[in-house]
Amino acid sequence: RFITFEGGEGSGKSTQIKTLAERLNAAKLRILVTREPGGSPGAEIIRHLVLSGMGKLLGPDAETLLFAAARDDHVRTVIQPALNQGTWVLCDRFSDSTRVYQGRLGHVSPEVLNAMERVTIGDLKPDLTIILDVPVEVGMQRAAARRGTGAPDRFEAEDVRFHQELREGYRQIAASEPQRCVLIDANADPATVAANIWAVVRDRLFA
Ligand code: C5P
Repeated sequence: RFITFEGGEGSGKSTQIKTLAERLNAAKLRILVTREPGGSPGAEIIRHLVLSGMGKLLGPDAETLLFAAARDDHVRTVIQPALNQGTWVLCDRFSDSTRVYQGRLGHVSPEVLNAMERVTIGDLKPDLTIILDVPVEVGMQRAAARRGTGAPDRFEAEDVRFHQELREGYRQIAASEPQRCVLIDANADPATVAANIWAVVRDRLFA
């Protein structure tokens, strides 16, 4: 089984992946938790490059090719071998992040994204994608708290728009692929969000 987690900044993905992994481990399943960009030695090097700000030196297509190179390595050396062995793979971000960040926000064309997906993931689709949805202000405040900067009195309009676009992008994906995706209200306490995620996993993947 292949489960991906998606959501904007401050949506609580890492906490929720950890909790789900603990539950699946307790159910005696073999679990692999991984993340993108990164997840394999080669892809982690690319993660470092793109998140260090080097991505900004590149055009959006070139940056997308780097993300794609990372995904190709991650799928080929980590995700697919684990799935082949019957291990459950929980991945923090996957192709929906590319659709939203590089596509919707970076204006990379669907043709380029489709071509990259064909190369990197082929027929591999997540069995389930959990999309954590939080109001823009909440996500921004959580992200600021995590950075240790504290939330400012007022967020920059440009940042607010960025987060609104992110949220809208994910909500559209959730609405257009209800078989694969579930939108989870992540504006609740972590235990409630975890219980809602567990209910979805149980109903969809253990039924
Ligand atoms: O939220 P997380 O820490 O997993 O993501 C790291 C960052 O990588 C995100 O905040 C996002 O800005 C960036 N990212 C991106 N395009 C992707 C995946 C992640 O720009 N496809």
